[in-house]
Amino acid sequence: MFIFRHAADFQHFLKTKKEIGFVPTMGVLHQGHISLIETARKTCETVVCSIFVNPTQFNNQEDFDKYPNTIPADILKLEAACCDVLFLPSVEEIYPKGYQAEVYDLNGLDFLLEGAERPGHYQGVAQVVHRLLQLVQPSKMFMGLKDFQQIMVVKQMIASKGINVQIISCETEREPSGLAMSSRNMRLNEMDKAKAVAIADTMKWMIANHQHMAWPLLEKEGKEKLQQVSEKVEYVVIRDASNLEELSAKSKQAVVLVAAWFGGVRLIDNMIFNL
Ligand code: AMP
Repeated sequence: MFIFRHAADFQHFLKTKKEIGFVPTMGVLHQGHISLIETARKTCETVVCSIFVNPTQFNNQEDFDKYPNTIPADILKLEAACCDVLFLPSVEEIYPKGYQAEVYDLNGLDFLLEGAERPGHYQGVAQVVHRLLQLVQPSKMFMGLKDFQQIMVVKQMIASKGINVQIISCETEREPSGLAMSSRNMRLNEMDKAKAVAIADTMKWMIANHQHMAWPLLEKEGKEKLQQVSEKVEYVVIRDASNLEELSAKSKQAVVLVAAWFGGVRLIDNMIFNL
């Protein structure tokens, strides 16, 4: 696997490559990330992964400071998954002197749910993905449904900027317990990890009951269930999976979305279901 730290060398190397499949990450790689690499490997000639902890998407400095870093282990995992290229830029490589930040039209998605809880977060996500796409110029970008709203934000940014890239949404990888894999799980002790299984259990319970309970009641009872084990539940909601708006008679697919804290760690998860 080729590793680049400088944008200029990286871009020079990619110039001759065709069919680039790109997997942007913040590192601390687990099977969720690797499943994206594996999916890219199946259809793309050149598979590129980036590891960059983007400061502009953290609305909380402590969260940024505490974000783990396991680069040597990440490199071994990427090599085992036959990734071709790893881009490991510094902040200055992504946002060089003279770089002009812009405000993205995210169609209001940056003020809903995750956007409401984390002001500025999705503008930061749009910014870093835009920069990375300018550098990598992939034909496909692979993203996890684990970050459901993020995929919508990125699709909106791409449409508004007229960028020609196909977004491939990949299923959420879970622990055998049902807990969604996340780099943040590393910060949980065994007891909190066991408690956090309640996120997936609650969503499954809501989906199992959606045909005979009204969705506001499902949301209320889902939240109450989670509150029994979580120190703070930010939201437990059911939304239209096509636009994250409230369900209507026209909705065909729904998504349960959850954000809750366990052991001082903020976790998010979601599950999609047909109505
Ligand atoms: P992150 O490193 O958390 O920024 O994630 C990088 C990419 O991996 C994003 O597209 C995530 O949605 C995806 N991802 C994170 N966790 C999982 C998971 N458990 N299953 C599938 N994809 C994931």
